[in-house]
Amino acid sequence: MSGMHMADAPVLQATGLVKAYNGKPALRGVDLRLQPGELVALLGPNGAGKSTLMQLLTGLFVPDEGRIEVLGHDLRHDAPRALAGLGVVFQQMALDLDLSVRANLLFHADLHGLPRRLALERMAQGLAALGMEGQLAHPVRTLSGGNRRKVELVRAMLHRPRVLLMDEATVGLDPASRQQLLQAVQALQRDTGVATLWATHLVDEVEGADRVVVLHQGLVRFDGAVDALLAATGADRLEAAFLQLTGPAPRIG
Ligand code: ADP
Repeated sequence: MSGMHMADAPVLQATGLVKAYNGKPALRGVDLRLQPGELVALLGPNGAGKSTLMQLLTGLFVPDEGRIEVLGHDLRHDAPRALAGLGVVFQQMALDLDLSVRANLLFHADLHGLPRRLALERMAQGLAALGMEGQLAHPVRTLSGGNRRKVELVRAMLHRPRVLLMDEATVGLDPASRQQLLQAVQALQRDTGVATLWATHLVDEVEGADRVVVLHQGLVRFDGAVDALLAATGADRLEAAFLQLTGPAPRIG
């Protein structure tokens, strides 16, 4: 997939990102680029810096050094336009449990200034695509963990972003729901061409990605296709390749 888009401008570009907490570095010079329509897995063990990176990319924190552009708009200097190009599913659930699916989604649609009729159309279509038609009136509290995440996915796509950020969105889900969510994102990628950054510490979630970026101790240890990761490490399985990269070995690839 990525090969077809090589000539296109990146939809997301982060350059030289540095971020420390009280002098302790969490990101030590990270470059990241997403081409239109790519599904990129951001793989790293706990503490690698994935959340920090996501928080910088969503404009929640400002990097100590480096810059971020979404669709060519600088996140620091033109935040409204940059953020309009981003859809985000956060690690922590961000729905009001007491409100209906409809009310939760409309709240987000209003934040983005979507006309009501268009919002309702997209909500219905988004839920249907995820097998959740007819659940608009349900209070979020009554939904399974997997379905809550699907509602968050529909919400993230309501304003039709070109870039989707999934910050360890499968944490706490059972294996079947994890698989379903990943498949939902892959279907979205196919149908809408949205570029996705999928952060995870789980190697088995990486297999369907066009590219994998391995983050460890605040540095990119590998950036390339899944096959290339195996070839570069000489490992025959992803798990082994990942362990090799996130151990004390030097950067390769
Ligand atoms: P990951 O998401 O890959 O688990 P994080 O970005 O959460 O990694 O963490 C990267 C490093 O930054 C870790 O050493 C973590 O302890 C530290 N860190 C993360 N958030 C904070 C914070 N709010 N205050 C201080 N240290 C933090």
